[in-house]
Amino acid sequence: MQDKELYQHILGLTSPSTVSEVKLNIPAEEILVRAEHPASTKICCPESQKELACYDHAEERRWWHLDSSQYKTILIGCVPRVDCPDHGVKNVTVPGALPHIRFTIMFERFAIEVLQLTKPSKEPLRLPTVMPDGPLFSISLCDAPYTAICLAIAR
Ligand SMILES: [Zn+2]
Repeated sequence: MQDKELYQHILGLTSPSTVSEVKLNIPAEEILVRAEHPASTKICCPESQKELACYDHAEERRWWHLDSSQYKTILIGCVPRVDCPDHGVKNVTVPGALPHIRFTIMFERFAIEVLQLTKPSKEPLRLPTVMPDGPLFSISLCDAPYTAICLAIAR
């Protein structure tokens, strides 16, 4: 199994999305996984579910996924947009991630389970993720990831 096929499976990407590139950044301890789709792919309007041609793509986005061993795994892609005759230009729904959230749903689920088990207080929350400067890192209450996770718990 090659790296693209492996990450296609690990990330649960289904056709027409494919992994087009897997890059290992050893100093940053990151694996960067780029996902794309063929230009001819028909895409559904998120409001009407009407199948349309891809109009263009929104800016590149990154989603933090579950780590691969000690490496932070980042999914990278440009969200396709459709030009629906009824609803105008719309970003399509990305499977595995919610709009405007920088984490995959699997990462959110993991973080929520950690939060529920650790019952965070006003002290910084420590998630078991390896970082370059040590075996653990802290997320303080004012950090954007913590805020996003709290919003996810509220959903
Ligand atoms: Zn529509």
